[in-house]
Amino acid sequence: MEQNEKVYVHVLFLFPIICGALSTCPNIITRNDWNAREGLSKSLEQYPATHVLLHHSSTATCNSPANCAALVRSIQKIHMNRKRYRDIGYNFLIGEDGNIYEGVGWGKQGTHEDRLNSRSMGICFIGDYTSYLPNEAALGALQRLLECGVEDGHLTADYKLITHRQVTPTDCPGHRLYTHMRGLDHWVNAPYALDIVSRSTWGAAAPRFKNYISGTPTHLIVHHTVTPSCSGTDCYRRLKQIQADHINKKYGDIGYNFLISQDGTIYQGQGFGRKAAHAGRANGYSIGVSFIGNFETSSPSQASLNSLTNLISYAVQEGKLSSNYKLVGHRSVKATSCPGRNLYSEISKMKNFSSTL
Ligand SMILES: [Zn+2]
Ligand SMILES: [Zn+2]
Repeated sequence: MEQNEKVYVHVLFLFPIICGALSTCPNIITRNDWNAREGLSKSLEQYPATHVLLHHSSTATCNSPANCAALVRSIQKIHMNRKRYRDIGYNFLIGEDGNIYEGVGWGKQGTHEDRLNSRSMGICFIGDYTSYLPNEAALGALQRLLECGVEDGHLTADYKLITHRQVTPTDCPGHRLYTHMRGLDHWVNAPYALDIVSRSTWGAAAPRFKNYISGTPTHLIVHHTVTPSCSGTDCYRRLKQIQADHINKKYGDIGYNFLISQDGTIYQGQGFGRKAAHAGRANGYSIGVSFIGNFETSSPSQASLNSLTNLISYAVQEGKLSSNYKLVGHRSVKATSCPGRNLYSEISKMKNFSSTL
C-alpha cells in the first residue's frame, strides 16, 4: 500500500512541475493529486479575499509528498467526520516537503475561524510550530502562494495577513511561527478596521451626564429601537429623535452604546467605555447595541447582522470587550420582547450567544 502510494504520488508530481514553469504561480498539489474526498464548500462572500489567516495543524510534520498527502487526508477526515465540517477546513496546507496542498482552494469558504471564513484564505502549515519554524521550503512556498493569489486576483492587493491567535483564544499557529509572521509584509496587528459614524456626524446633542464602565465589559446586549427603520443620512434624524426621547426619560444621553441600521451602518451612541442606560443592573458590565427598527414584525438584514459581528470582533481586538464575552438579547435581562423575535432568533445562532446573563 505504502509502496503503491509513493509511485502514484511521484508520477503525478512530475507533470505539474513542468507545466508550472510557465506561470509565476507555484505548483499546487490538487485535491485529485492527494486523493481528497468530495466536499460541499461554499464560495466566499467577499471575493477577492481581504484577509489571510495562518494556522498550524498541531500534528506531526511531513517531509515527503507521500507523507504530506497522507496527513492532509487524515486532517480532512477529522474535519469532516468528527467536526462535521463541509470539507477540509483550510483553503491550502503547506508541508515541509515545500509543497502546497489544495484544501478547499481559492475563492471558497474554509471552516477555520467563524468570523473570517467568508472573506479570508485559511492557510495551514502542517506541523506544530510552538518552538521552531517551518523550514525554508515551506516558508518560501507561502510567499509564492500569496504573491500568486494577488497576481491572479484571488486576494486583494492590500490583503491583511494575520494569525489565528489574534482573533480567538488559541495558541495556533504556535508561538515561534507567530513571532516570525509579525515581521512579514502585509502582517497587521489589528485585523479589523471598522467604520463607525460618530456622534458629531449624526448631530448628537451634548449629554446631560455621563457614567463610565470600570473594567472590560463581559456582555454585549442586543436591542431593537421599535421605531421605523431608516437608511443613509435619514438615520441622523431618527437618532436625534431617539436621543431626545431618552434624555426626556432621564437617561442622560442616548441609551445605547451603538446602533445599527438596516443598510449595515454602525452609529456611535455613547460609544465604548461609557455606562449607557439600556439594561438596568447589567449596564455596568455590558455594551448595548440596538438595531434600528422593529424586529418583532420585520427581519434584520444580513448587512446589519454582519455589522454586529464586525463590531464584536473589533471590540474584542481593541480590548473593549472581554474575549470570552457573552452575547445576549435584552429579553434575557428582563421581561420584554426586545430585541424582537426575528432578531433574537438570528443572534441565537451567533458565536458566544447565551440565553442567560
Ligand atoms: Zn488555527
Ligand atoms: Zn431593549
